[in-house]
Amino acid sequence: MIVIGSGPAGVSAAESFRQYNDELPVSIFTADPDRPYTRPPLSKEYLRGETDDVDLHPPQWYAQRSIDLVRCATVEDIDLAGRGLVVDGTTHRYKSLVIACGASPTPLPVPGGEHALQLRSRADADRLRRVAGGASNVLIIGAGFIGCEAAASLAMRGLVVSVVAPDAAPQTQRLGSEAGERLLGLLHEVGVRYVGGVEVEAIREDGVVLDNGTTMDADLVVAATGVQPSSDLAADGLKVDQSRIVVGADMATSVDGVYAAGDVALAYNATARRHLAVEHWQDAVDQGAVAGANAAGRDATWDGVPGFWTTIGEATVKYHAWGDGYGFSRPVDRGGGFTVWYESAGATVGVLTCNADQDYELGEHLIKEKKPAPLGAR
Ligand SMILES: Cc1cc2nc3c(=O)[nH]c(=O)nc-3n(C[C@H](O)[C@H](O)[C@H](O)COP(=O)(O)OP(=O)(O)OC[C@H]3O[C@@H](n4cnc5c(N)ncnc54)[C@H](O)[C@@H]3O)c2cc1C
Repeated sequence: MIVIGSGPAGVSAAESFRQYNDELPVSIFTADPDRPYTRPPLSKEYLRGETDDVDLHPPQWYAQRSIDLVRCATVEDIDLAGRGLVVDGTTHRYKSLVIACGASPTPLPVPGGEHALQLRSRADADRLRRVAGGASNVLIIGAGFIGCEAAASLAMRGLVVSVVAPDAAPQTQRLGSEAGERLLGLLHEVGVRYVGGVEVEAIREDGVVLDNGTTMDADLVVAATGVQPSSDLAADGLKVDQSRIVVGADMATSVDGVYAAGDVALAYNATARRHLAVEHWQDAVDQGAVAGANAAGRDATWDGVPGFWTTIGEATVKYHAWGDGYGFSRPVDRGGGFTVWYESAGATVGVLTCNADQDYELGEHLIKEKKPAPLGAR
């Protein structure tokens, strides 16, 4: 059994395979030089310097399970017909394969874009943490969750931080203006300045040039402009859609013995009854567990409602949603927090909450049952 990638999907696939099969050798080949780590803290506690410990498991965890973790090992090619993959010119044979290559940051396609730092790996976070130590004025490009989290963390470190993005408020296009206004409020609470309705045209020595004609000063520029799935290895022979490897609810690809899980997969969710593109930590763990179990001959299915938690400054925002659009959204203010309900055709399809755990839990249930949002939300 071979797994490509040491993110949550890959490690979870190896773990669940081993749980059901203690005989076959299990290897994880990963391009990453670091032992598997948790990514969520990289834009939060780790970036703020509040912790150095992001290890997913202690070093002995892998040996205890006879899981061979091979780092700095980029898989260059997969021979689907011959059931082999190539690392450093050497072919390794597999009986089952789980592709869990995740995603990598989208390059910033403007002149000078290569000068912006990005944040995906532990090495990226180390670099950002180091450079931030000598900086005072930070510009973050992009107001997705990673951009907002990193902005808040750097502001909490005492830096002057601005976020620039095309939306009038963070993630208006994805989550609606009510959610956007509330996320903006969370950024303001930690002193982050938000400049909306703009795109970056160039990064130059004298600053970051915006399409509204202004140039913003910054001694540290971070591009948090989204990710692209690392699906290149699948190009020859596996079905790919939206740059992701298409799999069923069992995480099986169109080729026998080959599975994909996590950010790189476009997986069928048995409850939603459609394929979903999901980029969340826990869903990568869940999908990996399904892939590993099925590779070991079990009968597992991905059927949970996708979701994640994000921490912007001191506030934790929780989200459950199918994530592929909604008909209308409805905000409800909760004492010290808020909830935004999302519906389509009379069924709840998402819920975003801050300090409203009851709504978050109820939301998961309503989404799963395809029931409407509570009347009070209308
Ligand atoms: C800073 C940051 C904060 C985040 N915060 C949250 C959060 O709060 N909540 C949340 O739900 N999600 C969060 N996420 C998203 C979450 O981390 C991802 O959804 C998750 O890591 C996806 O897991 P994965 O296993 O599919 O891929 P990844 O974690 O991307 O792992 C992919 C692995 O594949 C390896 N790889 C790629 N290509 C090859 C190759 N050819 N050969 C060998 N190895 C290869 C990579 O080196 C890597 O080890 C955050 C992400 C980042 C970057």
